[in-house]
Amino acid sequence: MLRTFQKVKIFTAAVCLILVLCLTLGGCGGASAQRLKRYSTQYFDLFDTVTVFTAYTADQDEFDRYAGEMYAEMAEFHRLFDIYHDYEGVNTIKTINDNAGISPVRVDGRIIGLLEEAVSLYELTGGAVNVAMGSVLSIWHEYREAALADPEWAQVPPMELLEEAAAHMDITKLQIDRQAGTVYLDDPGMSLDVGAVAKGYATEMVSRKLREDGLTSAMLNVGGNVRTIGAKPAGGWPAVAGFGGEPVAAESGGEPWAVGIQNPDAESSEAYLHSVSLIDAALVTSGTYQRYYEVDGVRYHHIIHPDLLMPWNRYESVTILCGDSGLADCLSTAVFNMEMEAGLALIEGMDGVEALWIYPDKTEVRSSGFAGYEQS
Ligand code: AMP
Ligand code: MG
Repeated sequence: MLRTFQKVKIFTAAVCLILVLCLTLGGCGGASAQRLKRYSTQYFDLFDTVTVFTAYTADQDEFDRYAGEMYAEMAEFHRLFDIYHDYEGVNTIKTINDNAGISPVRVDGRIIGLLEEAVSLYELTGGAVNVAMGSVLSIWHEYREAALADPEWAQVPPMELLEEAAAHMDITKLQIDRQAGTVYLDDPGMSLDVGAVAKGYATEMVSRKLREDGLTSAMLNVGGNVRTIGAKPAGGWPAVAGFGGEPVAAESGGEPWAVGIQNPDAESSEAYLHSVSLIDAALVTSGTYQRYYEVDGVRYHHIIHPDLLMPWNRYESVTILCGDSGLADCLSTAVFNMEMEAGLALIEGMDGVEALWIYPDKTEVRSSGFAGYEQS
């Protein structure tokens, strides 16, 4: 039999051992949060752009699991929202287009979700973003591709051709039947182009899934369409992985993610004009510099004004900041096509949505709460 004082000694020693283990392994409560490290990776085959995924996780294995999940989910959205390619056994946006005027197409709920959001944004913005503009957008796409392949050939599409196509962009002919799970285009000359909304919607859905599955601190950047999950953790642990083996600078202290707003002037030595602080938020920019071609020294970019049927050069870029990257993507394209008064009124009327307009002469306009997110 042990005497009482011996029992107390053993008990005290055991408590001390547990405490030491807790402190060393960091497995107890708050200490574990400080053990997160920063990892980053990138992909080049999603949505025809560069995807950068950065996250704080306990170790490389955990990061790889989230990165694998992110990639697999994004790849599915990429296939479903594709308008150019066919995929065996999957009905996509292209399948809907191929069946315009022929029959409704049974589609995945994610396509229905995207199209419903696009229709509600069409209504909210007076048609400034219209996913049923495929007939007009495909002409611009063809002319741009041809011009990029052979700059000497570069031409602007004839207005008669654009006007003919514009007879087939009535979004009320996009029939979404949520119950039946089908989509039908009731005009054989009509087609969908979801380029203005798809990346943002996919990024939002995938970010939400990762958060649900336990990821607490990450940034998903799909071609400049940025969505952050949580904040950067407190602790100041050193980075352990970076692009191409380069170390990423060590981060410290429970801070928001810093996201740069690109300078529309690609020739400038300043790549970013401003930087904003984001926690669980999205930042999306529509700009004239992102995709364009030139004819006789004039730039023809990829955002087409639905009334003019031409690129409108009123702004160089419009950036939207809000909590939902799907909404931010829809709004960035729509507000780009709106007069300042209407665009500003729209943004000011929406809770938690801010915007920054940059004009070709570099003048900037901010919605009332935008500066609150800017880093000095
Ligand atoms: P974003 O970069 O998000 O502004 O989207 C631009 C892309 O959306 C273009 O490449 C087109 O595919 C498509 N697009 C261009 N103009 C419009 C428009 N007015 N409404 C809907 N989609 C558009
Ligand atoms: Mg957009």
